[in-house]
Amino acid sequence: MNPSRADAAPVDRTADRYRRQRLMAGFGPEEQARLGRAAVLISRTGGLGGPTALSLAAAGVGRIVLHHEGVLEPEDLNRMILMEEAGLGCARAAQAEAALRRFNPEVQVVARGSRITPAEAAAWLETVDLAIGAAPTLEERFILNAACVQARKPYIDAAVCGEQGQILAVRPGASACLRCLSPEDPPWDADFPVLGALSAVVGNLAALLAIRALTGWGSVPWGAYLHIDLASLDLRPIAVPRRPGCPVCGDLQ
Ligand SMILES: [Zn+2]
Repeated sequence: MNPSRADAAPVDRTADRYRRQRLMAGFGPEEQARLGRAAVLISRTGGLGGPTALSLAAAGVGRIVLHHEGVLEPEDLNRMILMEEAGLGCARAAQAEAALRRFNPEVQVVARGSRITPAEAAAWLETVDLAIGAAPTLEERFILNAACVQARKPYIDAAVCGEQGQILAVRPGASACLRCLSPEDPPWDADFPVLGALSAVVGNLAALLAIRALTGWGSVPWGAYLHIDLASLDLRPIAVPRRPGCPVCGDLQ
């Protein structure tokens, strides 16, 4: 039962919305300030990237740039938590932008309703600190991977299919990149199974690694392929070596 607004206690809007996370060991005002100064690019904010973006907004990341093409369809509603039924037929990107702004008005949100191109990724990376690939297409994830390597900015790649999830955190020049992991384009069926509770787990792990990378708080398993078996609830990091002949990062020192 929800109390009516009249019954609710007055809200102290001067209270610090980030106080509780600063109770985390090692996460203090400096880490919070780093988040506030940080900008993140996210490709797709659906079942995977939506929870990522929401958790980054909740944590106080200063600026979120998102790309998400298309309009909301009924079958999106089992997982796209930034969208709502009333938005069926309307642009997904605009709904994600509005939801993030409603949730935390302190966060700057820039939304584009298109699939990101290599040129756009390169341009955004001049203004952001880190990129997250949460697209259901490998093409977009490889675009972000290559752009981040070129810009020498960290890249977090996330994917989920049914009960299997994966994350690769890339630090260009120091760790393997997504092309080192997948030299050939693996077979990919766009109509893969997805349950919102599962994609949100992987999306939030990506958000956690982004927060760690942006603040220096905690460790990031750079270059380790995190295989998340959501059937057995087993999370296993598998070291991925850099490939000297990698066409994306092979020449990087
Ligand atoms: Zn590589």
